[in-house]
Amino acid sequence: MPSSPNPPDPTIAVAVPVPGLGLLSYRVPGRPAPPKGARVRVPLGSRTVVGCVVEPDAAAPADVTTLRDVVAVLDDEPFLPPSVVDLAVWVGEYYASGPGDPLAMAMPPAARRGEHAAFRTVRVVELADDAPDVSSLRGPRQRAVVERLRAQSGGVAAAALAQEGVGADVIARLVRLGFVRIREDVVERDPFGVATTGQGGWSAAPASDAGRTLTAEQHAALDALQIAADARAFRTTLLHGVTGSGKTEVFLRLAQHVLAAGRRVLVLVPEIALTPSVAGLMRATFGERVAIQHSGLSDGERHDQWHRIRRGDVDVVVGTRSAVFAPIEQIGLIVVDEEHDAAYKQEEAPRYHGRDVAVMRGRMEHALVVLASATPSLESAVNAETGRYDLLRLTRRVLNRPLAEVHVVDMRRELAARGPEATLSAALLEGIAARLERHEQSLVLLNRRGYAPVIFCRECGATVECPHCSVTLTYHRAARRMRCHYCNFSSAVPGKCASCGGAYLERSGIGTERLEADLRAEFPQARIARVDRDTVRRRGAVARVLADVARGEIDILVGTQMIAKGHDFPAVTLAGVVAADVGLGRADFRVGERTFQLLTQVVGRAGRGAIAGEAIVQTLYPDHYSIQAAAAQDYAAFFAREMEFRRAMHYPPDVALINVVVKGRSLATALEDARDLVGRIRGRAAGQVLGPAPAPREKIKDEFRAQFFVKGTRRRAMREAVLAALAARPDLRRRTIVDIDPVSVT
Ligand code: ADP
Ligand code: ZN
Repeated sequence: MPSSPNPPDPTIAVAVPVPGLGLLSYRVPGRPAPPKGARVRVPLGSRTVVGCVVEPDAAAPADVTTLRDVVAVLDDEPFLPPSVVDLAVWVGEYYASGPGDPLAMAMPPAARRGEHAAFRTVRVVELADDAPDVSSLRGPRQRAVVERLRAQSGGVAAAALAQEGVGADVIARLVRLGFVRIREDVVERDPFGVATTGQGGWSAAPASDAGRTLTAEQHAALDALQIAADARAFRTTLLHGVTGSGKTEVFLRLAQHVLAAGRRVLVLVPEIALTPSVAGLMRATFGERVAIQHSGLSDGERHDQWHRIRRGDVDVVVGTRSAVFAPIEQIGLIVVDEEHDAAYKQEEAPRYHGRDVAVMRGRMEHALVVLASATPSLESAVNAETGRYDLLRLTRRVLNRPLAEVHVVDMRRELAARGPEATLSAALLEGIAARLERHEQSLVLLNRRGYAPVIFCRECGATVECPHCSVTLTYHRAARRMRCHYCNFSSAVPGKCASCGGAYLERSGIGTERLEADLRAEFPQARIARVDRDTVRRRGAVARVLADVARGEIDILVGTQMIAKGHDFPAVTLAGVVAADVGLGRADFRVGERTFQLLTQVVGRAGRGAIAGEAIVQTLYPDHYSIQAAAAQDYAAFFAREMEFRRAMHYPPDVALINVVVKGRSLATALEDARDLVGRIRGRAAGQVLGPAPAPREKIKDEFRAQFFVKGTRRRAMREAVLAALAARPDLRRRTIVDIDPVSVT
């Protein structure tokens, strides 16, 4: 009898969590291949790791003898949806990180270790279906428990019964007698929990009001977007609307439309902690079928939310950049709110940009992608200009509210008149005083934390630097210490200068801590709160302060860029900016764009209620085009001027850019290694190579950094040239950062 030959063992291609490594092939002995998206435990060198199947039927390599066997198949079904696997593989290729890191990001932490879904459970006591008659019970206590359960159809948590004095022994006896049974209920850790208890900022958001009439512009935008969504094909639309024009309202209604048509929605926001109102609004609008994903969640919460989404219990996912990998299927709409925000770029491997990955996900899933902003990135604006993206504009605020009136204060004159220590101009002081009198609120922004950014010696002029980084230490008064904002090194202020022994160390410059102190001195009766990374370390702290502002319990809110994000406080009628030019001195081609965006956003916080707003912008460079254009709230003028600069200097979006940073024990070795890579890349003639040169901060955390740029129009060829150079120098791989489409180059 001819025996049917055994099918050969399948070969699969697996992504393993090792940076820079491509797919690896393994044999699956004696069983069918696990599907794409399943996890497998595989040998790698002398250890085993958890990988993800990318190709279930990979071609066996020519040299099969080296093929190793899978140690264990962890899932028979796809753990990750195949669409998310494709997305992560694309990210690994585009951002030159390899597929392992992005696939790991797409999983909750426990799953990366190969664990299976574990949920927290509670024990619930309920009446047994076939419980005997209660009269057969002798003890009055036991009878009372049975009566209690009879009245409560869903059962009662064992913990609750224990609190009422019903001991475990009583329940155990009732179980034995067949009166009750115990079931284990899964409880999901709910990051919205604060909303139900009313203790956080989530509840501050009013629900989107379906009865409210849209403005003509909102209406036109919504119509166009609904048509685009109904086409069920990939499109990207830039929704460019001035601050307070009602963009959120438009995309909430669009989301409802998409859900009604049976498809799901993904909403990305830059930072949930800073804009809890968006999450609250989503919850109020979409109820239970919303999940939230962001880095502030505990592992347990993240795990539970992830599995809710994966099971299909969720129709709307709201999250920060990594939520772009959420395991949601049948997506009809992806919204990227505040699409210009630098928080979308991950500044560690994989160095992906959440907005750009969102656009790719929309393409892969035939979804509509909406990028919303009052100050679009130049990248998106150019795409809208060239027709790659559709453009919808909201040029007016809702209810015909005017944009804030902006006054630019030339601080050079102010300092000349009032001395070098003046931090608050006469105009800003008057403006705040008037708000206090009228019981209105003020925001005051200074984008630098700490008390004083520089400590220097009055004798020799030397500044106090971090021993590990090439930056000055910032003085923090409350902590009475100097601190490095790069590596967090801190030390007490020394008694004398380390260079010359001089006895007079002076603090110079101003940060938010000093600004707050100055404001308290000027307005002792005012209720002042400060929001920056020093004051909001604890979870939920920002939400609490913002809720206080919303309730009118704060008169003046001081802070860094954290206070400029999309908050909607109707009683804020004054926005002040101290040192609008902080950052303009940095050696980064995006400083003009950053400054324009930040100023426009903070100015946009004023006058969102019934009373018109005013903004006062203090600067040493009143003529800088970023400050001028922000004061005029003239995006077109800024765009024209900034694009002129980018074209002249060959910076994105005029060309594609790759930033390569080589780290070393000394600047000389870093430069030498970078020079070697540059030589290899130049040989491949893919774009123009500039550098190497010492990075603007040449030492960070005791590592020296050399930097070079690759510029050109052929991004793929450029990336391949960089990767080929690194392949020839594998010793450099671990100390080289390859940043594709960098957002920050300093
Ligand atoms: P944006 O996101 O463009 O800055 P928002 O969507 O936050 O603007 O809207 C600003 C404010 O106006 C919010 O309080 C919002 O509830 C309200 N709003 C939005 N659309 C309308 C409308 N059509 N009529 C009245 N108020 C509106
Ligand atoms: Zn440091």
